[in-house]
Amino acid sequence: MELLKKTAQNLEKNNYKTYIVNSKEEVYGIVKSLVNKDSVIGFGGSESLKETAVLDLLEKDGYTLLDRRKEGADIPKIYRDAFSADFYLCSSNAITEDGLLYNVDGNANRVAALLFGPENVIVVAGVNKIVKNINEAVKRVKEYVAPKNCVRLGLDTYCAKTGRCIALDSEEKFTGCDSPKRICCDYVISGRQRIKDRVKVILVNEELGY
Ligand code: SF4
Repeated sequence: MELLKKTAQNLEKNNYKTYIVNSKEEVYGIVKSLVNKDSVIGFGGSESLKETAVLDLLEKDGYTLLDRRKEGADIPKIYRDAFSADFYLCSSNAITEDGLLYNVDGNANRVAALLFGPENVIVVAGVNKIVKNINEAVKRVKEYVAPKNCVRLGLDTYCAKTGRCIALDSEEKFTGCDSPKRICCDYVISGRQRIKDRVKVILVNEELGY
């Protein structure tokens, strides 16, 4: 809990509104207290969100989701519509103890919405996402997050076969494989925010996603 408190304090200094909860079951209560009944809600792909069941609960309670999970969904349109959503839900690949978010995308739809567009962004992250600093965040993605995601999504990349990024053998950590399915294309560090409290971070004192 001390780690969560320290991280939350530093996120707040950087203008992120921060919440701490003990369990994933408490996440929906916070989300529900933030959104309105007429809110349009977009979201990025996230195992953490899936584990909290927040999206299913919003749907069950009648909120309007830009739902990319539906069969036949027009995904490119949903990605674009997310920019004018009232809320955008996602997780973060890593959060540093000193209050930065670190995210890496293949399509960039998630990082784009995190940076600009939706009026509010809600980031849900388990304690396992907290790292010491940006170097550790970069390592976390290259050694753990990206390989796991590539395996989960059945993508033919170097890390899916070896369990680690090819760039770890290079001086330049932001290079990568030449696979057309590469999922590490845009590397985004979110620092201090100009719009105070636009990005809200719910820190959960349990492991969520990866
Ligand atoms: S750049 Fe390629 S090998 Fe490296 S983590 Fe990303 S997908 Fe995997």
